[in-house]
Amino acid sequence: MPVIRACSHCGQKNRIPAKYLASTGRCGACKSPLPSIAEPLAVDDALFDEVVRIPNFVVLSRGRVVMQQPGVVSHDQMEQWLRSAAPVSA
Ligand SMILES: [Zn+2]
Repeated sequence: MPVIRACSHCGQKNRIPAKYLASTGRCGACKSPLPSIAEPLAVDDALFDEVVRIPNFVVLSRGRVVMQQPGVVSHDQMEQWLRSAAPVSA
């Protein structure tokens, strides 16, 4: 079940499959980037079930997103992201 998102550049409505809501895509009309969803969604039961099946990992450092990856990743990959985002102490 796709989510309809309007392109902020040209206004074209784009159908975004639930599994790609955390990814950056491109507008089908003007090819401008469509950023990942960053606001609450109004969903029905079916879309809710579809959306929550998407793992999305976000690594924050000092309140800023430094890494975001939709999909399943390994423990080693997660650990590498966290180590790279950790502040360096002197
Ligand atoms: Zn567009």
